[in-house]
Amino acid sequence: MRALIRSVLAGFICCVASCALAGDWKEMKGEHFIVYYAPSTPDVLKSDAQIDPENFASQVLFEAERYYQRIAGNIGYARNSEFWTWDKRARIYLYSDRDSYLKSGDHPAWSEGVADYQKRSVMSFYGSSGFIDSILPHEIAHLVFRDFVGLSERIPVWLDEGVAQWAEEKKQRHIMGLVRMMYLKDSLLTLDDMMKLDIRTIVHKNNVYIRPTITRQGDKGVLFLTGDALVNSYYLQAASLVYYMIDKFGALEFSNFCRAIRDGKSVEEAVKSVYYTHIRDLSEFEERWRQYIEESS
Ligand SMILES: [Zn+2]
Repeated sequence: MRALIRSVLAGFICCVASCALAGDWKEMKGEHFIVYYAPSTPDVLKSDAQIDPENFASQVLFEAERYYQRIAGNIGYARNSEFWTWDKRARIYLYSDRDSYLKSGDHPAWSEGVADYQKRSVMSFYGSSGFIDSILPHEIAHLVFRDFVGLSERIPVWLDEGVAQWAEEKKQRHIMGLVRMMYLKDSLLTLDDMMKLDIRTIVHKNNVYIRPTITRQGDKGVLFLTGDALVNSYYLQAASLVYYMIDKFGALEFSNFCRAIRDGKSVEEAVKSVYYTHIRDLSEFEERWRQYIEESS
């Protein structure tokens, strides 16, 4: 759960990083990525074989290419497109330790990694918890998604964060289990609320926020949530909305949905244009999603 929360919080800083390299760096090139890595690790990490710089960088490159194929394919890039090749390759920077990483930019002290949309880069450090399984796919998904649909503010954060969390394959079952529990306790945020709420403004984790909800019987209700709980609920639900679309209707339809968003449609217009045989508007989208949660186990 701690790892999940950390990943959830990482979402806030996905576009704030900048990167300055100092000292000797090594590089390793793949088809879509270049990994720049610090040549040595601090003594404290040297006993950990997994953090041998060369091995770690090559593992990161291998997994990054694998994640890229899966994410780009599902979002809508053609397999043979030239996107992200040669001089357009994304860059991954691996610092020797947390301190050097933190000094490289304005990164929150708790963060385990960040992505920069404009510079198409991901930064982290040796020993970062869950980097390969969690942060790497999460941040690559943000970069690919934003490269495809653009940086427009009209795209809701839940969609961006939902796609990024969908890419973290190993968390899907766990997240769906938590969302189902929230559903059974009548504590889901409404989709309408998620569309309007700018979750980045929730910065006081102990403040209490009052949000609307809908019970399983269809009655309106209210939730009293701390800032922490609200952010958690929002991210978990964001992930489950994207799982629902991809799991229920398939990757091809999801890439059509992303293409409609890229071409300027709102989420509601894109849902209607792609899933029109099943869903006519956002309230029906929410109903079907809740049904999907109920049927999941
Ligand atoms: Zn994120």
